[in-house]
Amino acid sequence: MKKRNISLLGSTGSIGRQSLDVIAACGMGVAALTANSNVELMEQQVRQFKPELAVMMDEMAAADLKVRIADTGVRVAAGMEGLLEAAALPDADTVITAVMGMVGLRPTLAAIRLGKRIALANKETLVCGGDIVMAQAKEYGAEIVPVDSEHSALFQCLQGNRDRGEVKRLILTASGGPFFGYTKEQLEQVTLAQALKHPNWSMGAKITIDSATLMNKGLEFIEAMHLYDMPPEKISIVVHRESIIHSLVEYCDNAILAQLGTADMRLPIQYALTWPQRIAGPATQLDMLSCPNLTFAPPDPETFACLGLALKAAKLGGNAGAVLNGANEAAVGLFLKERIRFADIPRLVALAMEEVPFGPAATLDDVLEADAQARRVVLSHVK
Ligand code: NDP
Ligand code: MG
Repeated sequence: MKKRNISLLGSTGSIGRQSLDVIAACGMGVAALTANSNVELMEQQVRQFKPELAVMMDEMAAADLKVRIADTGVRVAAGMEGLLEAAALPDADTVITAVMGMVGLRPTLAAIRLGKRIALANKETLVCGGDIVMAQAKEYGAEIVPVDSEHSALFQCLQGNRDRGEVKRLILTASGGPFFGYTKEQLEQVTLAQALKHPNWSMGAKITIDSATLMNKGLEFIEAMHLYDMPPEKISIVVHRESIIHSLVEYCDNAILAQLGTADMRLPIQYALTWPQRIAGPATQLDMLSCPNLTFAPPDPETFACLGLALKAAKLGGNAGAVLNGANEAAVGLFLKERIRFADIPRLVALAMEEVPFGPAATLDDVLEADAQARRVVLSHVK
């Protein structure tokens, strides 16, 4: 198996920390680590993994890190420039994109233009700029291998069968989140603490809220369209509360292939690094005999309006994904600071989709502009 040398963007986050578990277990190299402001953890990671470059998005945090790790000889950089440098480091053949939010778009494009393998966790990048990202990956011959568990499951079920026109449908599974079965009235009452408790997965705060609103499944729907070049009518969502089947592919002969496993992100992270091979790794084994019964139910995009809005954006194409995502990032940020209520999130996203003019997302500027406008609309409706 190829021993990869990795730039890990977002190393202090949930995916970042699990990536380092996998990297350590598989004996791979670390070229760069990046974070936003968590200097303590970055210092520990630098000392353990000895990268060439450590980046803090926050300038003050970068200055602090520089002092803390002066004895190590590891270079420190800051801000978007630092993030771009980490993504483009000549010694790294692989970039894991595990930052939160569309801030990952420019570094991902920088790595793609250098033909690096992208182990892509940062779904916001594809939702905003999927047209550009996929076109450039093709042009520069960069492999994009998904880390998101559903897309990794699809990727695994598509091996050997991908480009022969035999796929009838991609089926994304959804846990349904902590509020499955709630009515609209009940959703009006939920608190931040309740929304931060996901039944099956332990993740960063933003994606945990997205899982509670079902926006996460909507973002994943758009992510799947881009990754597998599929029209929206060939992708379905099924609620599967147990999170054991991570997604399925239905073929033209009605065979359905599924990928099963525990809710452990280290498996999809590892596969994105070792593909097309498999090796033994740290992910927990699934014991079929102690598994709960597997259940399936339809999603409810009426009650969970964020999902309905994402499906609408998926059909619209153009800059609708960037508007949806920008508005959602802004709204979730406000909810996490308890400045708005849970049920305000879809309201604010809907307003942004109404107010920002529809247009193309053919250039990076188109995407950045749609994102900025959507955020402005959200803020303009909140005192
Ligand atoms: P976390 O919030 O746990 O971690 C985010 C990471 O990005 C941290 O290292 C954080 O640094 C850094 N970061 C945050 N904001 C910025 C910024 N503005 N600029 C630069 N770096 C920043 O998120 P997750 O690990 O949960 O998720 C990361 C990505 O992976 C998301 O796109 C998510 O949708 C996706 N994903 C996550 C899954 C999961 O299981 N967690 C599953 C599937 C996809 P700091 O610690 O300093 O704040
Ligand atoms: Mg997922």
